[in-house]
Amino acid sequence: MTDRNERIERAKELGKQWNKDVDKDTLDAAKKGAKSDYVGQWKRTPNLPKYPPAGQSWCGLQSFYDTLQKQDQKRKSKWKRLGTAIKPPQQFVVTDGTGIGNREFVTGPRGTDVAYTQYQRKCNSCGQTWVASQKDVDNSNKAKERCWKCGVVGQYKETKANIAYREIKFPVTTPGCGDTLAYVSLTGEPAKKLESVLRPGSVIEIQGWIKPNKEWKYKNTKKFLVDALLITLGSTQHGGYVKLIKR
Ligand SMILES: [Zn+2]
Repeated sequence: MTDRNERIERAKELGKQWNKDVDKDTLDAAKKGAKSDYVGQWKRTPNLPKYPPAGQSWCGLQSFYDTLQKQDQKRKSKWKRLGTAIKPPQQFVVTDGTGIGNREFVTGPRGTDVAYTQYQRKCNSCGQTWVASQKDVDNSNKAKERCWKCGVVGQYKETKANIAYREIKFPVTTPGCGDTLAYVSLTGEPAKKLESVLRPGSVIEIQGWIKPNKEWKYKNTKKFLVDALLITLGSTQHGGYVKLIKR
């Protein structure tokens, strides 16, 4: 096939995927939405990005960015977390990722099946709980042997859990702004409800959490990690949710 034919075929394929019909039940379920069942892991917070993935203005995210910038100026350690609530709920518009050099979002979210083993530990002495990863166990990570609350070492009850869930990720902007400003990650039930429905231009409503994260950016044929803002539904106790406003 010539390059031109290949491009036309590809455009047709994208069009077919984009125009894919979604049955009414699936659409209604997405409009009803889902609450957070977020299973997060504690990670070091990356740096606050200076600019959005595409464009120069934070548009509807400006007030959240200002809050994060204030937190960042005050934080004394890289381990101190940055993040702020999206509450009251805000509307976001799914983008096709134009400007981030990555064509994978043209047809909608990237879906991944996440699976790993988690070791849930509970201190025999004070009852504090924490988790260790397979890597921590393999490397006998000393920091994870110690209860961070009362300081006893190696005195805990352990439950091995197989964690498995669906995750979807997609770029978003705010209404009235065209540029990709941040990424959204949905896990578990919210991911399942919205995965087949979302496409560039879809409008969603989220109550959740926004924080710095690392995301892939593409330039020429290379891909590298850059600092970017990530929106999640937050952990379960904060009442985070997502729902579809318009497909
Ligand atoms: Zn303890």
